[in-house]
Amino acid sequence: MNVKQIYMDADALLEGHFKLSSGNHSQFYLQSAKVLEDPKTATLLATALAKQIKESGIKIDTVCAPALGGLIAGYALAQALDVRYIFAERVEGKMSIRRGFEVTKDERVLICEDIITTGGSAMEAGAVVESLGGEIVAVAALANRGFCARQSSDIERKANCKLPENIPFFALDDFTFEMYSPDECPLCKDGSEAIKPGSRGN
Ligand code: ZN
Repeated sequence: MNVKQIYMDADALLEGHFKLSSGNHSQFYLQSAKVLEDPKTATLLATALAKQIKESGIKIDTVCAPALGGLIAGYALAQALDVRYIFAERVEGKMSIRRGFEVTKDERVLICEDIITTGGSAMEAGAVVESLGGEIVAVAALANRGFCARQSSDIERKANCKLPENIPFFALDDFTFEMYSPDECPLCKDGSEAIKPGSRGN
């Protein structure tokens, strides 16, 4: 399965000259919600991710996703794994589990995101699950931005990865793009102008 092609076809992976929210420039931009716009594609991707997780032999009781980014990927993954699904959400900036969702003691929970950059939100959701007695046994995402080391990839873990090294991380592909400070950007040097992704009709 060519995951990047699926993202490209869904306009979820854009190529051009982009100004990121960090202020850096990049030739690529990942708009990960777009790939889940078609429920059939969401099912296809989640089924492939579930296959990796099943093959690892790790037993999962429940998928928990941090809202908002992980909601759809998490739901689709829980369906593909045939397990329970809950989500965590931010309330006044603090990640919490609400809406009557319960976590039982020693429940084996997988945290699912659409994309893992440093894994900050995933681990915040994980901390809430653990505070309720659950155990985080895996992390999964459709896309890995290349800062964390996923199963079956040679990409090395970077210093800013927040995922614990002893918890397996599953993702379908690595999306590692160069980022440039504006004064060192080769695309700027070629004379093109960086645009803010989504600024045209988002
Ligand atoms: Zn530039």
